[in-house]
Amino acid sequence: MQEIKSIQNAIREVEDKISAACKRAGRNPEEVTLIAVSKTMPVEAIREAMECGIIEFGENRPQELRDKQAEITEPLHWHMIGSLQTNKLKYVIGKTVLIHSVDSVHLAQAIHEMSEKKGLITDILLEVNVAGEESKHGISPEELEATVRSLNVFSNIRIRGLMTVAPYTENAEENRIYFRQMKQLMVDINSKNIDNVYMDILSMGMTGDYEIAIEEGATLVRVGTGIFGHRVYLPKE
Ligand SMILES: *Cc1c(COP(=O)(O)O)cnc(C)c1O
Repeated sequence: MQEIKSIQNAIREVEDKISAACKRAGRNPEEVTLIAVSKTMPVEAIREAMECGIIEFGENRPQELRDKQAEITEPLHWHMIGSLQTNKLKYVIGKTVLIHSVDSVHLAQAIHEMSEKKGLITDILLEVNVAGEESKHGISPEELEATVRSLNVFSNIRIRGLMTVAPYTENAEENRIYFRQMKQLMVDINSKNIDNVYMDILSMGMTGDYEIAIEEGATLVRVGTGIFGHRVYLPKE
């Protein structure tokens, strides 16, 4: 019971902080959706979150997603937030509501092709490496517009917006500038009136910095540790 209670309390706390951040920024809390990042967490933890009304869950490994979907058959909204190889797309396309982590034309093309075969239109976000970190995936801000234009031929994907993983920091304020840049990038792309491109989703903000991200315009926040506690990575048996 201890653990159950703590997930529920944590969710309430995060939801309160989301509301407060919206208030500070003069935003309607309905504009912001909380995604519970359940990677590495057991199905029981997901069920506890579901009891608090959470239906949006984020996973970063295609096979883990497949395994969890085999156990949880309720109609949840699964989000793929981790880096993706094209040979794993079969676990993702048609099985998630949004792929957040598209970071190359090659991957976008593969998503388009499999979606076309399945008769689907797949919603994607483009991952942007806004701080230019060596260690991070993502399209550079400079390449973003050209990338968006070159994806225009892929009729079975729909670019819904942008995603970023901001730098790890003890002081979330330091990431405000990056979140602000992300919002501006989205506004800039929308202002180019590229055919069929209108973005309205900004996926940014994690446990350490989601309140700042919301103040700067996030519409999806991805919170793992702040809901489920620390992740323990055990070797597979
Ligand atoms: C793990 C992960 C998160 C959640 O991180 P926390 O710091 O635990 O909230 C969010 N986004 C992505 C892309 C992740 O991989």
